[in-house]
Amino acid sequence: MTKPSPHDDVDLSAIAVLLQQCEQQDNPLYESLERLYHRYRQQQRILDRLIRIADQFQLAERERGHRYQSNYQRQARQLEKIIRISDHYHKMMRDLNHRLHILSTHDELTGLANRRYGTQRLEQEVNFVNRHGGTFCIALADIDHFKLINDTHGHAVGDRVLTQVARCLQTHIRDYDLCARWGGEEFMIVFARAAIADVHPLAERLLTAVSQPLQTESATVAVTVSLGVTEYRVGDSLDKALVHADQALYRAKTAGRNRVMCDHSTHLV
Ligand code: GH3
Ligand code: MG
Ligand code: MG
Repeated sequence: MTKPSPHDDVDLSAIAVLLQQCEQQDNPLYESLERLYHRYRQQQRILDRLIRIADQFQLAERERGHRYQSNYQRQARQLEKIIRISDHYHKMMRDLNHRLHILSTHDELTGLANRRYGTQRLEQEVNFVNRHGGTFCIALADIDHFKLINDTHGHAVGDRVLTQVARCLQTHIRDYDLCARWGGEEFMIVFARAAIADVHPLAERLLTAVSQPLQTESATVAVTVSLGVTEYRVGDSLDKALVHADQALYRAKTAGRNRVMCDHSTHLV
């Protein structure tokens, strides 16, 4: 018996039964029907095979699609992870660079600009004045008898005094000026775009601000500073200007300390 195909709308089994009947073999259409029957069966087998192949192909394609999709999702997740790690490292490097920059330009104890940064700023002011004209001023401030403070109250109190004097100077200068820690108990202040006549009263104000008794955890310490101020003009030597500021500071010291001395000489190269 011929198995009916799922795609079959012809009753093949009835034809097969008919072809097996001996009395039908003399029928003039018998041979044609038999050929037609076999060709039909053959076509049907080919069609079934094609359908099976197409189904398998479709299944394989679907599985391949699933595999691609899950591979893609896995790679996307890995990429996201790599991006997150790289962002994290990028931020860490930025923070580290920022910290390194602060460490290399600032003094650890007082938080003020260090001597290197102060010198850079002086050079910038020199360049500005030599290009655009005008003047700027340099002040050197030195804490009076600081050794005595250390000797009397101890090094830790000395450090606290240094920090508080630094903070006092920093808060009393103008926003566009710079106060740097120049050495042990010595500070350098850049008064940008200013003449000595204007800076003298500012320096006196700094003197008054610092000369208040400083309260530390363990002692009240009387602190004073001496200041030497000089003016930088177009074409001056920066080194000479610094020497003259130092000489003015020395004069303030020898004149009794706790005072401002201004230098009015020229420092031409
Ligand atoms: P003058 O009025 O002539 O400036 O006298 P002075 O005692 O302030 O100057 P001197 O140069 O004799 O002494 C400065 C002292 O500052 C000596 C040094 O041990 C101290 N010093 C320097 N750096 C620091 C610091 O970071 N912390 C402390 N506590 N002391 C410091
Ligand atoms: Mg001193
Ligand atoms: Mg000193």
